[in-house]
Amino acid sequence: MSVFDEVAITGHEQIIYGYDKVSGLKAIIAIHSTALGPALGGTRFFPYQSESEALEDVLRLSKGMTYKAAAAGLDLGGGKAVIIGDPRVDKSERLFRAYGRIVDSLGGRYITAEDVGTTTIDMDLVRRETRWALGHSMAEGGAGDPSPITARGLYAATRAVCQMLWGDPEVAGRRFAVQGVGKVGSAFVQLLVEARAEVIISDSQEPAISAAVETYGVKSVPSDEILSVDCDILSPCALGAGINEETIPTLNCQAIVGSANNQLATDEDAERLMERNILYAPDFVVNAGGLINVHDELRGYSRIRTLQSVDSIFDATMKILETAKTDGTSPNQAAIKVAEERIYEIGDLRRFRRSGDDEN
Ligand code: NAD
Repeated sequence: MSVFDEVAITGHEQIIYGYDKVSGLKAIIAIHSTALGPALGGTRFFPYQSESEALEDVLRLSKGMTYKAAAAGLDLGGGKAVIIGDPRVDKSERLFRAYGRIVDSLGGRYITAEDVGTTTIDMDLVRRETRWALGHSMAEGGAGDPSPITARGLYAATRAVCQMLWGDPEVAGRRFAVQGVGKVGSAFVQLLVEARAEVIISDSQEPAISAAVETYGVKSVPSDEILSVDCDILSPCALGAGINEETIPTLNCQAIVGSANNQLATDEDAERLMERNILYAPDFVVNAGGLINVHDELRGYSRIRTLQSVDSIFDATMKILETAKTDGTSPNQAAIKVAEERIYEIGDLRRFRRSGDDEN
């Protein structure tokens, strides 16, 4: 399939291919929408097997960013970038600075940040060539690692789910199964334990398990058992696509709220969860804390403002769960509806021409 055939389906505005022969940079930047503001999304550094695999990933991820920003009420559009290569061996100063120059040439239509395979240190290099790079290190004036903020947003969403299910936002006494105790999962477990919830964890890496068990006094189960643990809330904080046709019949929870991106393998899985009466809080609403954190860097980072904004994920989640209840649809569909309504309503403001440019 050609690129134009692809974007005719996905509705993207612009795809940019960047290449630097000397450093071996091969980057694809996808701008899905700038209706609400500049397209913000991280740069994924990954050893894709083919260009078409990289293109498919960047198209899917950038569209997701449009919905994530809109559902969070941010004046941002959706974009994402991928760099084809092995982050362990292919990174260099030249590569990131060449990439920074390509990002800069877009004049702020696309703003990048860290993602899987890139770090705050890499963003410091990109930022030497463009101001349109966020998520850089605290030493360079950035907000640093967003994971604890993402965990705080996840906690706010969890309280909304508790409110919806049991008429009380408190997590005390509720039983949680947390899949993956990396940067976000472990920070989330800490918040749950401090609030006197019961927590069971799993991770595919032994050091992560022992760190969580020793630090927080939680129980662990093998990775292949966590999804079927008898619990009130299951929290996927590892990789995507874990909730699928095969695993849904084995779930033993009343709700799913987790940080992992793209938790549902397909859109039909949202319906399957409804049939099983399991409440699913859409991942792109729940895990918006990281995006809110980098977005604030655009305004001159304020921790207090960021935390206030992240705590409003409680309200955003409530709105979506209530819309789903009223409409009789899945929360996933409701979240897309809320995001699309905002893109239409606020994006339409652009027809009132302002003095000067129309950048946010
Ligand atoms: P991380 O790599 O620090 O942690 C992921 C953990 O999951 C690791 O400890 C890993 O060993 C474990 N894991 C992998 N496969 C597993 C499996 N099958 N079963 C159990 N454990 C498994 O990543 P993170 O930054 O904590 O992010 C977690 C998820 O949240 C990812 O999907 C990420 O895309 C998403 N997310 C993160 C942020 C953020 O701010 N870090 C923001 C938005 C979304």
